[in-house]
Amino acid sequence: ADIIKLKNINKIYGNQVKTQVLHDLSLDIKEGSFTSIIGQSGSGKSTLLNIVGTLDKPTSGEVIIDGKRTDGMVKNELAALRNKTIGFIFQFHYLLPEFTALENVLLPNNIMAKSNKETKARAEELMQLVGLEKVRNNLSSNMSGGQQQRTAIARALMNNPRIILADEPTGNLDSDSTENIYNLMRDINKKFGTTFVIITHDRRIAEKADRIIEIKDGRIALDI
Ligand code: ADP
Ligand code: ADP
Repeated sequence: ADIIKLKNINKIYGNQVKTQVLHDLSLDIKEGSFTSIIGQSGSGKSTLLNIVGTLDKPTSGEVIIDGKRTDGMVKNELAALRNKTIGFIFQFHYLLPEFTALENVLLPNNIMAKSNKETKARAEELMQLVGLEKVRNNLSSNMSGGQQQRTAIARALMNNPRIILADEPTGNLDSDSTENIYNLMRDINKKFGTTFVIITHDRRIAEKADRIIEIKDGRIALDI
């Protein structure tokens, strides 16, 4: 089944001077698949991912996530859907430097005041999964780029999301770490059936995905 469906998406920025960034874009993504999105800078990749992630709304068109139409939802409904269904990973992982890796994974959940014992156990389990059990109590500012991105991946997995959206997750890493982070995401995809959509400039990473979509001037130029 398709866990993500976009129908005839248009996105226009600006009031006085309008810029159309996405043009009548339709896209279905199968549950459990691993898709990479490529394309030149400014082609609309991040806009597309933000619309899928319900962080941004299309000017027109339909967005259906896990069977639910999201483009008409209000703020609270969107926040609930994101919290339950979607995990995000960014190039700049937005970890808090003065907190440990484990605390960074726990933090978003503490703010939402869930059961402490369960969340702690879940966070510990995830530190193991991402290979950080030995360094989980180190300050994130003292960790390598790859370790920081592993922390960000663990944080994205906290609520066991069905979908992970990643915008240049290896953009700041050297090629060894890039390979390691890709392998980790792939392992998660295989193990839990989590659907991945990742934007990447790294051709070698892009080519390993189940599906490659190239965006050009706000349209799908290639889908293989
Ligand atoms: P990519 O991720 O492929 O680099 P983006 O989706 O970030 O492309 O941007 C596509 C185009 O939309 C660019 O021309 C960018 O300047 C413009 N854009 C992105 N976000 C906004 C915004 N909030 N307001 C106005 N223009 C924007
Ligand atoms: P970096 O090269 O920046 O340290 P990596 O992502 O390559 O970042 O590795 C981060 C940490 O995870 C290191 O301590 C490494 O030993 C460990 N690690 C690397 N690959 C794996 C893996 N497949 N499984 C578990 N732990 C790993």
